[in-house]
Amino acid sequence: MNREKIGTITDLMKSRLTKPMQYYLDLCTRCGLCYDSCHVYYGIPKREYTPVGRAETLRRIFRKYFRPSGRFFPYWGEARELDDRAMEEVREAAFSCTGCRRCMVNCPFGIDTGYLMTMAKLMLIGNETAPEELVILADSAVEKGKSIGEFKEGFKSVVGDLEKIVQEKLGRSSPDGLIPMDNGGASVLYAGLAGAHSIVNPAVIFNAAGESWSLSFFEAVNFGAFLGDPEKMQFIANRIVKEAIQLGVKELVITECGTAYRIQRHMLGTLPFKVSSIVEVIDRYLREGRIKVKAGAISEPVTYHDPCQLGRNGGVFEEPRRIIGELCTDFREMTPNREHNWCCGGGGGLVALDNEKFRVQSGLVKRDQISATGAKLVVTACENCVSQLDTIKSGYGMDVEVKYLTELVADNLLL
Ligand code: SF4
Ligand code: SF4
Repeated sequence: MNREKIGTITDLMKSRLTKPMQYYLDLCTRCGLCYDSCHVYYGIPKREYTPVGRAETLRRIFRKYFRPSGRFFPYWGEARELDDRAMEEVREAAFSCTGCRRCMVNCPFGIDTGYLMTMAKLMLIGNETAPEELVILADSAVEKGKSIGEFKEGFKSVVGDLEKIVQEKLGRSSPDGLIPMDNGGASVLYAGLAGAHSIVNPAVIFNAAGESWSLSFFEAVNFGAFLGDPEKMQFIANRIVKEAIQLGVKELVITECGTAYRIQRHMLGTLPFKVSSIVEVIDRYLREGRIKVKAGAISEPVTYHDPCQLGRNGGVFEEPRRIIGELCTDFREMTPNREHNWCCGGGGGLVALDNEKFRVQSGLVKRDQISATGAKLVVTACENCVSQLDTIKSGYGMDVEVKYLTELVADNLLL
């Protein structure tokens, strides 16, 4: 690796050296208490898949370039020089971590390995070895933000087809206006995803509630965050913020995507509108009587998977349980749950990568958790989690069905 490349990577590391980052890099006592927190280590018990193992990959390089002991006495400080091999290890560490932050909850010092991996991801961008799939997806989201005018008509015609499905589900006489867009003065801007399900089911719910709403032209998912590029992350998130401001909405509602919710709700500072998850909104509609569901419509055993970014890192725990509680007569909690819930293994952009075997292995603990409940239906509220739970289901031949919470509600509305 030449000096120029080393300079680029260490400059990027420096740009991420916030106070918490330095604390996390310096403080670990290697007590090993975090070992058993990581779902990857549970499924693949190798030291490099422990939280501390991942962090040490980064710490050795940090010591070499940012601490005198590492610079002058590399063997004492276990410092590591940057080279291609070191960067391969950085990539393995960063893109085997979902950023679920379960290890942080179990570390006596609150060391946030997920946050440390944001520095690792930035180093990979500097080394030009970040996963190509994520680079392409983040770039196309940025491009769409720059030239939205070119995409609008095509998107409107796709949405026109979806309005007919919404019409059928609601039993209305006309599909017109069931999925409004560019609806200036609406109360709510809803940011969905590319899949029809993330538009149709919420549209059914918004219409049933008589909500004044508008569908965003942008997908909520933030591939800039998965890639670990702070500028692209900010740009992708701000596309939706700008649209919300232009329309003058009071509330931005984020679809079932935990990372998008966490970014838009918790990482953009103060915004001139409220940010909610669709899960919080459904719960509110039910409590206010704006929608009604068929009480106890589902009698088979049901469990709920807490998406890490919505639950542990977003604080939404009780709302999905209240909603499921109205619909299902046999709800069974996974153990542990809420902030201690095990990650399914799909976050951090991992479901977008060619790594199915790894994800099945790292999903072993989720398989065990679900099986222990005896549930036949697994409900969750995050696109990545649904994809990963489906991968776990087929990987282990499980006899369960996986459903989005919005689908469960839209299919069981009392209209
Ligand atoms: S629990 Fe915390 S201090 Fe202990 S090894 Fe893990 S990260 Fe380091
Ligand atoms: S953030 Fe999650 S995936 Fe990453 S090391 Fe910690 S427990 Fe493992």
